[in-house]
Amino acid sequence: MHNPTQSTDTPFIIAGPCSVESKEQLTEIVSQFNTHNEINLIRCGIWKPRTRPGGFEGLGEPALRWIQELKQEYPQARFCCEVARPEHVELCRQYGIDGMWIGARTSGDPFSMKEITEALRGCQQPIFIKNPLTPDVKAWIGAIERCRQVGINQIAAIHRGFDMYNNLGFRNHPLWEVAIELRRIIPEIPILCDPSHIGGRRDLIKYLSQTALDLDFNGLMIEVHPNPEQAITDAEQQITPKDLFDLLKTILVRNQQGDGNEELKLLRSQIDSIDEKILKLLAQRIETSRNIADVKQHHNMTIYQPKRWDDVLHQRMMLGEKLGLSDTFVKEIYEKIHAESVQQQENYFSTKE
Ligand code: PEP
Ligand code: MN
Repeated sequence: MHNPTQSTDTPFIIAGPCSVESKEQLTEIVSQFNTHNEINLIRCGIWKPRTRPGGFEGLGEPALRWIQELKQEYPQARFCCEVARPEHVELCRQYGIDGMWIGARTSGDPFSMKEITEALRGCQQPIFIKNPLTPDVKAWIGAIERCRQVGINQIAAIHRGFDMYNNLGFRNHPLWEVAIELRRIIPEIPILCDPSHIGGRRDLIKYLSQTALDLDFNGLMIEVHPNPEQAITDAEQQITPKDLFDLLKTILVRNQQGDGNEELKLLRSQIDSIDEKILKLLAQRIETSRNIADVKQHHNMTIYQPKRWDDVLHQRMMLGEKLGLSDTFVKEIYEKIHAESVQQQENYFSTKE
């Protein structure tokens, strides 16, 4: 098995059922994967975190026994399970499970992370850490640091999206920028993408997988079921083994570095000079805003004037639309610019009082 923490040209692939449902179902997956060495780990959900009571909570230890039997029959196969409690870790270690992942509900909880990582101490298997439910890169990093502290040296992150007020039609909002920020802060940690839990629908899996690879992710975790429509959990997002093999054949793994490309160098130098102009104009705008603060203070006017802000936002959005910029982009930029302007004027008022 290639080490998920060492970069290679081929993406690291974890695939398998959302939940192990029976020995037959798991055997079917393992036998279909048997001739496909591009699959590095077989995903097996055996303790299932359920949002509401009464759902299928996974088969637990009996499923570990089937995995052990299947390992005899298919010595090449490697398995990976979710762990959410120290007891899960102990059982996985006892049954020789090849990798473990920590789910989104667990990675954001420091108490659970402390207990689980204690149980993982010195573990030689790869450990995958999903992002917490909320988009807090510090919490995600905290979970990774806890794993590092107990001497785990094969660690990778899994981006599974975030639970937001508006998920834009995804099951979990991808907020790719959070994963990119994780990469910026700890570039040595590989990041896999879980398009199944981001998309929540099988027709989105291919698009999300390709986007992740285009963003330089190191691999994918995909839910695969022999008969997705009949799956006990996450039936809408699982795909068949055949769909997985087709997907792996068609996704493009791009060349990572673009530093030597002349055309790219030229375009990047254009971007650099545009950015310089943007920043100089922003500084000029802030300076003007401070001059406005002086006038407002002199004439005893309030800093925030709702009518003026409404007009500015409306006009900028109309102009943005004419220039082909998206509504939300212009709105978010102007909300930030306006907030900074108000802050600067407040600072100005407080220093002159
Ligand atoms: C899972 O992978 O089975 C799972 C529960 O995912 P998440 O922790 O990302 O919700
Ligand atoms: Mn699932």
